[in-house]
Amino acid sequence: MSGDGQSGSARVHFVLVPMMAQGHIIPMTDMASLLAEHGAQVTFITTPVNASRLASFAAHVEETGLAVRLVELHFPAAKFGLPDGCETVDMIQSQDLLSNFLEACAALREPLKAHLREQQLPPPSCIISDTMHWWTGDVARELGIPRLNFSGFCGFSSLVSYIICRDNLLKHITDENELITIPGFPTPLELAKAKCPGGIPIPGMEQIREKIYQEELRCNGVVLNSFKELETLHIESFEQVTRKKVWTVGPMCLCHQNSNTIAARGNKAPIDEADCLQWLDSMKPGSVIFVSFGSLTCTAPQQLIELGLGLEASKKPFIWVIKAGDKFPEVEEWLSDGFEEPVKERGMIIRGWAPQVMILWHQAIGGFMTHCGWNSTIESICAGVPMITWPHFAEQFSNEKLVVDVLNIGVEVGVEGVTRWGHEHKEAMVTRNDVERAVYALMDEEKAQEQFRVRAKECAIKARRAFDEEGSSYNNIKLLIQEMGNKMNACG
Ligand code: UDP
Repeated sequence: MSGDGQSGSARVHFVLVPMMAQGHIIPMTDMASLLAEHGAQVTFITTPVNASRLASFAAHVEETGLAVRLVELHFPAAKFGLPDGCETVDMIQSQDLLSNFLEACAALREPLKAHLREQQLPPPSCIISDTMHWWTGDVARELGIPRLNFSGFCGFSSLVSYIICRDNLLKHITDENELITIPGFPTPLELAKAKCPGGIPIPGMEQIREKIYQEELRCNGVVLNSFKELETLHIESFEQVTRKKVWTVGPMCLCHQNSNTIAARGNKAPIDEADCLQWLDSMKPGSVIFVSFGSLTCTAPQQLIELGLGLEASKKPFIWVIKAGDKFPEVEEWLSDGFEEPVKERGMIIRGWAPQVMILWHQAIGGFMTHCGWNSTIESICAGVPMITWPHFAEQFSNEKLVVDVLNIGVEVGVEGVTRWGHEHKEAMVTRNDVERAVYALMDEEKAQEQFRVRAKECAIKARRAFDEEGSSYNNIKLLIQEMGNKMNACG
């Protein structure tokens, strides 16, 4: 792939502004690689702390000669009541500080504008920015270029979220358990208020949410990390109701073609990847369950213990990623006080960051117990691995509906309550029996297991077709570059 999306002589120049959180930065690094592989120039906006986590991405760009430039802007954490160096969402202690964090992001508006005016490259043709960075709409308008919105959601959840905001569906509902019917949704959908995107009030967020929504209405299009064939109805419906051009360019994780870049995605893992692969190689194909809840979710100690006891009772091999760290030292005590040793033959525990895609794509993995963040979900789809869904907050509950009710490639563990990040429940909401039952349903119950696997593999094949040459997402990337190039030429 090179230069095939170009039109006119000047290079089309995309400015990517990701939200500073791993679940948003990682797909944007994939997007940067893809755009550059198709011949575009990319400026990737980041901050010093985030840049240090992007070292392997920077090395990859350098090695391959891709036209991607990382630009670090100073992040004014202290000015907004955040500890110095708190430049990424996983460093915030609780969701109560999210609005401070987003205000600090918004303060990057002038530095970004100044940088884009002064830089030596061809002038920017288009900004693709995270939906949380509503303020980039102003920057794009002042530079006279389009802004495309990237939320990191799938089409299904983008549509849910849009209808909820448009119709103000949550405003007068006081009972968090009240079921909300999403009007005009192409497939039947009901969600309890608390499980809707934006269903749990977060201090200081109401005004910011409104700004985000207003900028969504003004953006020049939407980029989705999904593919047309996966959720056709919902993507078409999203396009119709928003009257925005929707560019499906995913699954972007498929841009990784070698094991080094796959293993180096995101943070540095604390394990030796070769040991992990060797362990996986020693397991039967499709026999291992992978348990991981993304980059932000912090599961409370009692809940972790129940989960561990459920895995133990299931008797299945597992890899379990635990991020309790210093926050919950009692978890470490429990692990070393009798859990880890007896299960060590069939259970691998990874403390901290795991090379998730490397693990998921190994043939030994037969099921993924996931929090249903969209990146994790689509990575599992690409691997053809069915899921046990354990959503915690945000749009994870609507992603669960897509996986379980529409695509039919997963079973629910049965989460009732919503986790408030930074205010995790003391008691377990999902019991060891729930875990054991879900693992059995996905991995043991022969007929059902076979059907889940067949459907998951079909999704993986469709994903690959959409991404490969002449597939729908491949063509969309080319068209996107072409269209932004044409706009640039028309402006002179
Ligand atoms: N991830 C990873 N190792 C981890 C945790 C997460 O590689 O230990 C990656 C995962 O592969 C995905 C992203 O981080 O690409 C998490 O995004 P997702 O949307 O699934 O969840 P979030 O972290 O935003 O809740």
